[in-house]
Amino acid sequence: MALLTILTDDNPRLRLKSQKVVKFDKALRELARNMFESMDAANGIGLAAPQVGVLQRLIVIAIPQDLDYEGSEPFQVALVNPEIIKCAGEQVSEEGCLSIPGWYGEVKRYETVTVRGQDLYGKPVKIKAEGLNAVCLQHEIDHLDGILFTDKVTDPSTLHKVQAAAARSEEVHAKEMARVR
Ligand code: ZN
Repeated sequence: MALLTILTDDNPRLRLKSQKVVKFDKALRELARNMFESMDAANGIGLAAPQVGVLQRLIVIAIPQDLDYEGSEPFQVALVNPEIIKCAGEQVSEEGCLSIPGWYGEVKRYETVTVRGQDLYGKPVKIKAEGLNAVCLQHEIDHLDGILFTDKVTDPSTLHKVQAAAARSEEVHAKEMARVR
């Protein structure tokens, strides 16, 4: 296990298109493990491989629960070569990103998505998600194509920096809001 450096938005690698994963080996599973650990250490709920400088189509998500859906199950997944194959409805929510620390803004996303991809062993998987889980999937898949949430804010005036009085208050903000980071 190792903590990986999360690139910030001044890094041009975040704007590149990631490659399809073709090798489902130990190195891929170790990368996913390290991404989960790094995301957790940074208090995030989603992370894409290009955010740690690896241009491969891999995302990890860990959402304790969706506060908008009472009683929702925790959502934890590592997805390889994810693709949205079905989508419906729309929702607007405030998003943030570990690569754009402190910034939040409103983004319009599909309310529900069906995503096809593979697990860390290459086995095909299909996931249907709604609410925050769906937002997170769309946000992370965008990273694989070099797209950041700031490209998609519905109204730039909603984009704001949270000036944390202390690191802890930002952490609490993130946890209470349970927003995509
Ligand atoms: Zn992000």
